[in-house]
Amino acid sequence: MVGVSAHVVRVSGSLVELVDLPEAAMFDVVALGERELPGEVVAIEGDRVTVQAYEDTGGLAPGAAAVSRGEPVSARLGPGLLGGVYDGLLRPLRDAGTWLAPGATRYQDDPRQWQFEPSVTAGEQLSAGDRLGSVVDGGPVKVHVLVPPAGGGRVDRVVPAGSYASDAVVATVAGVDVPLTQSWPVRRARPSRERLDTVEPLQTGQRVLDLLYPVARGSSAAVPGGFGTGKTVLLQQIAKWSDADVIVYVGCGERGNEMADVVAELDALDDPRTGERLTRRTVVIANTSNMPMMAREVSIYTGVTVAEYFRDMGHHVVLIADSTSRWAEALREFASRTGALPAEEGYPAGLASALAAFYERAGHVVTLGGSTGSVTIIGAVSPPGGDLTEPVTAHTQRFVRAVWTLDRDLAYARHYPAVAWSGSFSRDAVAVGAWHVRAGDTQWAHRRGRVISLLAEADRLTTLAELVGVEAMPGAERVAMLAGRLLREGVLQQNAASRSDAFCSAAKGAALVDAVLAVVERCGALVDAGVPPATVEALDHGPLLRAREETGPDDADGVAEHMRSMLDRLAELARSEAAP
Ligand code: ADP
Ligand code: MG
Repeated sequence: MVGVSAHVVRVSGSLVELVDLPEAAMFDVVALGERELPGEVVAIEGDRVTVQAYEDTGGLAPGAAAVSRGEPVSARLGPGLLGGVYDGLLRPLRDAGTWLAPGATRYQDDPRQWQFEPSVTAGEQLSAGDRLGSVVDGGPVKVHVLVPPAGGGRVDRVVPAGSYASDAVVATVAGVDVPLTQSWPVRRARPSRERLDTVEPLQTGQRVLDLLYPVARGSSAAVPGGFGTGKTVLLQQIAKWSDADVIVYVGCGERGNEMADVVAELDALDDPRTGERLTRRTVVIANTSNMPMMAREVSIYTGVTVAEYFRDMGHHVVLIADSTSRWAEALREFASRTGALPAEEGYPAGLASALAAFYERAGHVVTLGGSTGSVTIIGAVSPPGGDLTEPVTAHTQRFVRAVWTLDRDLAYARHYPAVAWSGSFSRDAVAVGAWHVRAGDTQWAHRRGRVISLLAEADRLTTLAELVGVEAMPGAERVAMLAGRLLREGVLQQNAASRSDAFCSAAKGAALVDAVLAVVERCGALVDAGVPPATVEALDHGPLLRAREETGPDDADGVAEHMRSMLDRLAELARSEAAP
């Protein structure tokens, strides 16, 4: 690190002007004042350098010293990240269970030791991204140490298996030391060998997503929804249940107590996939609304960088950002403070490209070292007033592969998750359908099409029924409305608090849809045969509607049993109607 001395001439909120910083480069980190507050160079005009501070600048005054670190904002990537809670610069926020005050955080000397086991020997020829060895910590996620992206060559030396500190050098490759913990500039995507276009679904365990609007591994999805529509709850469900190896959860600008809740919940949960604590495969990055706004801007990039770090080891990673709107607000705030020419609604002209650049870091790749891994990005969008045409929502919809729109009316009616079936979409659906065929479910795309069209038909007819009265509707249309209700209540709603319903396997989801379709078909036949529609509607559909909660998360057979008892009930109805 070079230490170029400079001093502060002006402090205006989080913007700090410096002079005498001759080697300043855009985005370099500068340490401000005695407390060494971190900031980032955001403008250079002549000999004046403007630095965006990432912490409260209270107490910082003209004349204070400033030191350039001579490198852009970088994340320190190494063992021990999993299970931790960090700020936007990846400094630990929590130490042995206690929260550190913002501003009190520093990169601390990590006292922990790591068990490193080499997998190569001196003399071997390696390329960038190849594995040098692994850190054995007994956790569910294998943490490997790789030759850095710019490295490669002959292994001069590798340490024997043993216990090492976080920054210990464990190998020397072509004259370059490789420490356990390596640094990476967060605004630059970590390189991979190639992007894969093979599609496999990310199984989120959330039926409305997996059945109707799936997202592929390495794709991206956005969750737009007004305040209180259930964005955070849905993202937490995905963090808990999706079939990813690693979850990186970026809490960005949302309430601090909400973030503490997320962490407490993750702490308390067992991971159904590994039997370990869920936190052992989770990294939490928190820049909540009580922390300086500008640190939010970088936290998103820090999160993606951590995700790419695990991807490069050959893991499937899901990055969750809640909320990208709060991040965009930081961009807007910054633009207004620096006097940049505002574009739409005060956001800087670069908003669209910043969003595109963020979502572009999602991908399913062959890593430099030749394994496959993925980063799936899922971002919440909280449009002010629920207006989905505002700039952040509108641009985001262009750049992501799937959009899961949360509907205020559904949330109000306590239909959770409140994912709207009209207004949501998935650009991955066709490819995911082909994957299901290869995986043995030839009916996936057909089932999806049926459900979407029945829901749309039911919505249309319900609007009509409100005008003309349900009594005036033909029997077949009343059955179609019943189908909509059974699909909504028996399939799409999902109880996040239920042990058996919170996660749903693909097989159980398919069985639930098939059960509803079979029941609806039988209802239609009864009505055709002269049974009054009101009788079919008034029947207790409980055995069908309770199936999702009364069968285990992967119990397709149990669902089929529920379906049979419902069909028996309909057969009984048919007999009693025929009897007189
Ligand atoms: P947002 O993040 O969109 O503002 P939240 O995710 O915090 O909204 O949800 C607001 C409230 O809605 C929650 O506190 C909870 O009471 C209710 N809620 C949301 N999703 C669910 C769900 N899946 N099951 C039960 N309640 C839910
Ligand atoms: Mg929220």
